Amino acid sequence: MQLNVLTLPGDGIGTEVTREAVKVLEEVVSKFGHGLKLSEGLLGGIAIHKTGGPFPDETARLALDADATLMGAVGLPEFDNVPPEKRPEKGLLGIRKVLGVYANLRPVKAYPALIESSPLKNHIVEGVDMIIVRELNGGIYYGQPRGIQGSGDEERGTNTMTYTRAEIARITRMAFHLARNRKKKVTSVDKSNVLETSQLWRKVVNEVAPEFPDVELEHLLVDNCAMQLILRPKQFDVVVMENMFGDILSDEGAVLAGSIGMLPSASIGEKKASGAWVGLYEPVHGSAPDIAGQNKANPLGAIGSVAAMLEYSFGLVNEAAAVNRAVEEVLNSGNVTADLKPKNTPATCSQVGDAVANAI
Ligand code: NAD
Repeated sequence: MQLNVLTLPGDGIGTEVTREAVKVLEEVVSKFGHGLKLSEGLLGGIAIHKTGGPFPDETARLALDADATLMGAVGLPEFDNVPPEKRPEKGLLGIRKVLGVYANLRPVKAYPALIESSPLKNHIVEGVDMIIVRELNGGIYYGQPRGIQGSGDEERGTNTMTYTRAEIARITRMAFHLARNRKKKVTSVDKSNVLETSQLWRKVVNEVAPEFPDVELEHLLVDNCAMQLILRPKQFDVVVMENMFGDILSDEGAVLAGSIGMLPSASIGEKKASGAWVGLYEPVHGSAPDIAGQNKANPLGAIGSVAAMLEYSFGLVNEAAAVNRAVEEVLNSGNVTADLKPKNTPATCSQVGDAVANAI
């Protein structure tokens, strides 16, 4: 297979972890006999410096040409006090919009070697392996009307939570497809005891479910889900929800795994003519100015994002598994970065990247 991939290293540790992720991508692609066309673009603070804006037209063009995009992180402290539309982070919204990615996938996996760094008791977190699927294009973050009107005691802030049947059906099918290749269980999260959008959500999920008779479906209210994620996280396989619930619960899910440096994410759109699914892959963490330029960052979230890209955009399940196995091998070796609190001298970002590439 020919893989056509754009990298957007961005700012701070984004460039460091992306370099290691590309190292691993090149290794796995050559090992399995595929072809790789790599291009690189500007996004975030570096794009502001070089072109005057966080999301140059050239980057949009490169992203539309590529089958999948691997992003590092954006954000530089020097822009902390400028208006939101001029900040590097504006580039993130730009690229998500241009690519039309509507499903955000966050795998949450408890690696045995990291069990001690989870805030939960070992027996609760052992064996956790789930994907949180968040609808990314709709809901209260985009609904109209919105704004702040009036003054004094009558000053009023308004946001609108709204979903169409098509938006709900599309994300539901994505969740069921994912579950088919996993433990075959979908948990749909809503607040249908209070919200009309959630009542429609539950109705549409129930209508779509019979298309996937091999997958079990359960519904959970969002408040209960917040509890269950820390009480019995092992019960979950694929957990699907609307945008704001997903924003909140995916961060709760994130802490189960230990360090933020471990976490990959994937945002998926429609299928391209090439047969690949449009996808934007990035570690969950930001540009970490406090450790940038020191070769200290944990690259495993970025490397996990490569595994997600292989699986979700290109359907290369064995290649993705090879990357995940190599990551697990490196974790077991104890040769890890400082954030994972190794017993011996911490490894550098590039040493961890080399070790994963070698393990493949
Ligand atoms: P952050 O994720 O960059 O850092 C939070 C803490 O976690 C820091 O102490 C950092 O050193 C540590 N950390 C993060 N990633 C790590 C890694 N891979 N290895 C080891 N330690 C790691 O969040 P922040 O400090 O709130 O934000 C810094 C900048 O990043 C801001 O400009 C913010 O807007 C931006 N940001 C960007 C993204 C993105 O690009 N998707 C996401 C979040 C924050």
